[in-house]
Amino acid sequence: SLGRQILMDNLLIILIIIAVFIGVGMGLGLRGVWAYDDYKKIWYLEFPGRILLNMLKMLILPLIVSSLITGMASIGSQATGKLGGAAVLYYMTTTLFAVIIGIVMVLTIHPGSEDDKAKLRQEGKSTDAKPLDSLLDLISQCFPENLVTACFERRTTEITKEKSDPRTNETDNTTYTEILDKYGLKRDRGTNVLGIVVFSIALGVVINHLGEEGLPLKNFFKSLNAATMILINVVIWFTPIGIMFLIAGKFISTDDIGQVLSDLGKYMGTVLGGLFIHGFIVLPLIYFVMTRKNPGRFALNMAKALFTAWGTASSSATLPLTMDCLVNKNNVNLNVVRFVAPVGATINMDGTALYEAVACIFIAQINGMNLSVADVIVVSLTATAAAIGAAGVPQAGLVTLVIVLTAVGLPTEDVTFILSIDWFLDRFRTAINVWGDSVGAGILNHFFRDTFNSDGGDSIELNMEP
Ligand code: ASP
Repeated sequence: SLGRQILMDNLLIILIIIAVFIGVGMGLGLRGVWAYDDYKKIWYLEFPGRILLNMLKMLILPLIVSSLITGMASIGSQATGKLGGAAVLYYMTTTLFAVIIGIVMVLTIHPGSEDDKAKLRQEGKSTDAKPLDSLLDLISQCFPENLVTACFERRTTEITKEKSDPRTNETDNTTYTEILDKYGLKRDRGTNVLGIVVFSIALGVVINHLGEEGLPLKNFFKSLNAATMILINVVIWFTPIGIMFLIAGKFISTDDIGQVLSDLGKYMGTVLGGLFIHGFIVLPLIYFVMTRKNPGRFALNMAKALFTAWGTASSSATLPLTMDCLVNKNNVNLNVVRFVAPVGATINMDGTALYEAVACIFIAQINGMNLSVADVIVVSLTATAAAIGAAGVPQAGLVTLVIVLTAVGLPTEDVTFILSIDWFLDRFRTAINVWGDSVGAGILNHFFRDTFNSDGGDSIELNMEP
């Protein structure tokens, strides 16, 4: 049955890759027949895809909670601290590398000019979102006031802009949400994943400390984890069909691809080029230097997850497949995966950070604004923060881009210029986000696998250190 298992695993990868191509082909084919704004038809066509997304999202909550608690309860708090520290160090360094690549690319290629602005011009008035407020928003998300509501709602502090106009003496109280609404950007109102992650880690560490008394809880979450994994293995088989229809729908509903390509081609090229360098050169190099293992093999084993990331544009929805590939194909220690994958999917977004830096400087270029060295540093820092704050859902990066633009005083309504192409770039940056999380898990596994046992914590003695 091992042979059959191997065949089944590769069969799924092949099906997913075929689905991506059929989806693109079907979308391009139907473009000639259907109008791009025939939303009703497209809605029906995308239906199987939405069911896939629903099923994956449905599993995220039990998966994250049970994985983190089981992981933390098994590995002991000292080891947790070390692993956590190393993970954060990896996330920060690689995200910063990604941002630097993006900045170097966009400054050398210089995709935007002031003429472009005229071409892309749209109505709109500039409004600000305060970077400090969004940072505080991020922190308050870590500590949800109500765990139950956190499971289905991302309560955010309203970010208010108070700018009084000296001539009229009127105060403008635009909120962050209003700014987003105004440009048709939907703030993610789904699960507060960050809050759930923080709570689960804390609970897991405490369960570990409780020792004997914590055993029922530990066993409960361990059993929940095992059951969730089985459900995931069923849902995963629906991925090819779902992805195929999601992609087809997207390719039909995009208005004038040719126009977008000619207006924004250089910008797209810059983002894609940056993502390529980061994903195909920098991350594999880091992996090789740290582990002395073959990054190509490691990447091939992640194929299911990477293609699903491309197809769904959501690193959260991809998490079940990411964990599956890491554990079952790349033999990464289960306890390392249980910690690194959910946290990585929530806060480690290399692709998004790179994209935000490029997009922000591109918008500066079309506004004819020369950014100083200090501005560029501000861009890189806020792009990193904005990527951490972005949820792992489609186009979250475009939403948090508002923060980066505000930080250097660029008009936030200019996000509309790049809106038309965002769905496309989103897929690539999501794949790089997932690839970054995976490489992180692989590297941390190299250093920590001997510290943790690989069978889910059974043979580890309960850790009673103070
Ligand atoms: N869609 C991305 C993700 O899920 C986030 C983004 O929009 O950049 O990772």
